Amino acid sequence: METGHYFNIQRFSTHDGDGIRTILFLKGCSLNCPWCQNPESLSAKPSLVFDQRICLDSCSLCTGCPAINREQGDIQIDRTSMSVGDIENLRQVCPAEALCVVGEEAGSEELYELLMRDKPFYDQSGGGVTFSGGEPLLQSGLVAELAQRLQQQNINTAVETCMHVPWKNIERVVPHVDCWLTDLKHVDAEKFQSWTKGSMTRVLANFGRLSNEASRIVIRVPVVPDFNDTEEELQAIIDFAAALPQCHELHLLPYHILGINKYHLLDLPYQCAREPLDKPELLEHAKHYAESNYQLSVTIRG
Ligand code: SF4
Ligand code: SF4
Repeated sequence: METGHYFNIQRFSTHDGDGIRTILFLKGCSLNCPWCQNPESLSAKPSLVFDQRICLDSCSLCTGCPAINREQGDIQIDRTSMSVGDIENLRQVCPAEALCVVGEEAGSEELYELLMRDKPFYDQSGGGVTFSGGEPLLQSGLVAELAQRLQQQNINTAVETCMHVPWKNIERVVPHVDCWLTDLKHVDAEKFQSWTKGSMTRVLANFGRLSNEASRIVIRVPVVPDFNDTEEELQAIIDFAAALPQCHELHLLPYHILGINKYHLLDLPYQCAREPLDKPELLEHAKHYAESNYQLSVTIRG
């Protein structure tokens, strides 16, 4: 039986796959995209979220931690000196939920039972379970075990992945995944590396191998200001996607900033555009290019 680290279970989602879905968000990612809207997912370890606005003036419960002090009325946290143990000790300490520990460990049996709770909704809607993150395939043993058990119950399974993992992690789960929701962020290796700190070679090689084995691949393209928001760049991405045998669907995901406050709460710098992408014509042109040249089915997501 596998164990894993997750940070959220979202029920009744109608995105991220067919029908009504439950999404299991696993912790840890192998990329570091500056536009990431789930920064609490980046570290595989528990993350500490703090919101000064709802901290109680009269309280000092968390200052038992050597890394936390109250100075001139405000709570100051020295995150650099905190161990995982220090963070774990803060679980359930804060009465106002101004200080929260995000991410916990769970066994596959516990997670399976949580995911099975919504089986009637999956059955009714043609939905199922989506594994997301972070990068869920960093925990491929857990995903493979859960997905196999869910499929045995006739539950549809999907994985959202950035494809930046060793091939063996993908290979392990391929037989148990009905739908691959795969990020294709760029096809230029230098630009990809400088923005995400990852290897484009690995991503593209994985796409080549996956396309021979998966039954359904949906390509998802986050369209991000100054990263890939030109016609030339989107066309190069579409050209690559269209050449994959099992890829007939493509989603264009315009950049948004809904997760920006999370960076503040995690005390992380936000280093991407401060405004959402506002280029509807660019997206329409890309859609037209993909549909007229390749018969890809393109969805522009809001
Ligand atoms: S425990 Fe919560 S409310 Fe109390 S001082 Fe710490 S952050 Fe503020
Ligand atoms: S791959 Fe996804 S989860 Fe990982 S850093 Fe990029 S946007 Fe965030």
